[in-house]
Amino acid sequence: MAIEEIEKYSLPDSVWDIGIYDAHCHPTDNYKRLPRGLQQMRASKLTIMATRLDDQEKVHEAASQFPDRIVPSFGYHPWFTHLLYTSQQAPTSKYDHYRAILFPEPPEEFLDLLPDPVSLESFITQLTTNVKRHPHALIGEVGIDRSFRLPKSGKQISFVESDSSSSSSDDDAKSEASSCCGEADQRILSPFRVTLEHQKEVLLAQLGVAAKFERPVSVHGVQAHGVLFQIFSELWAGVHIPSKKEKNREKKLLNEERTESSDNSPRPPPFPTRICLHSYSGPPDQISLWTNKRKIPAQVYFSFSIVINKRYGDKFNKVVQTVPDDRLLVESDFPVAGERMEWLHAEIVLRVCEIKGWGVEEGAKILKNNWHEFVYGHNDWN
Ligand SMILES: [Zn+2]
Repeated sequence: MAIEEIEKYSLPDSVWDIGIYDAHCHPTDNYKRLPRGLQQMRASKLTIMATRLDDQEKVHEAASQFPDRIVPSFGYHPWFTHLLYTSQQAPTSKYDHYRAILFPEPPEEFLDLLPDPVSLESFITQLTTNVKRHPHALIGEVGIDRSFRLPKSGKQISFVESDSSSSSSDDDAKSEASSCCGEADQRILSPFRVTLEHQKEVLLAQLGVAAKFERPVSVHGVQAHGVLFQIFSELWAGVHIPSKKEKNREKKLLNEERTESSDNSPRPPPFPTRICLHSYSGPPDQISLWTNKRKIPAQVYFSFSIVINKRYGDKFNKVVQTVPDDRLLVESDFPVAGERMEWLHAEIVLRVCEIKGWGVEEGAKILKNNWHEFVYGHNDWN
């Protein structure tokens, strides 16, 4: 949605006192505005997503500077996966790389515009470093986007810093800000897309890091709901999913083992155990598939934003109604910290509470709990 369309919604002070938790946003896209933007906002915490090579460090810095307000999330967004090569060896030329992962096959003049790709392995090393630096960092924004096409200019979609000039009012942001995840069609796009196989490889490598370090993941999915479900459910293929009874028995055994040996560390689960489908736009009847623990034995959350979800009309109401109360999150998915982000927080909280039939304070408490469970929660695997 265009930045001018954001309406001024507000919440009572009592709700801000309970706390509003943004599960997914991108204010490092307008990094220099962040300190002032945070001052203007009452949200308790922002979960800030990294998306590409050049914003991982910004998210690290922002989280280090404002540890009470920001939870960092490191990852590589599907819109930029063409810039990574997944082989061990560097491709002999960038032309070979792009011809292998883009379709339909682009002409040489288009490939001339694209930079040399970087290795996925080096990105995963950087991701691991960031995750170790921040014990509560998430993995994200990761995912699959089958509708995304590369910009005609060959330049990656990125955002001009809104504060390079001396002025820094919200109106400056107006002309320059655009959501990382919502407004691709405003730009002139080429017909070239990244193959699903390539996107999947980049996603799986990052899910491996999430599993290893037991971190939640924030997932982007466009025209890929079936595919994403398949990718996630395949992670558990061939693995015995223990029943509650078996889990309890195993827990008991594990406790006994622990008292006998000095090893107190719980076994890490082999897969990510907390997953958020951000700005969820899939069909309502898929929700019960994701929350079926026999298929995906993780806690799956569904997060909603005004920026993306408002345009879904009646479907939005149906989806929010269907999501279990304890799996619902809210987000702004917005690239600028400040009063507009706050209006988006207020509007999504009001909308969700209205659809769910919750009082606003009651809703804020539920949403706060859900966010804490998603970000800091224990895993359910062992
Ligand atoms: Zn996003």
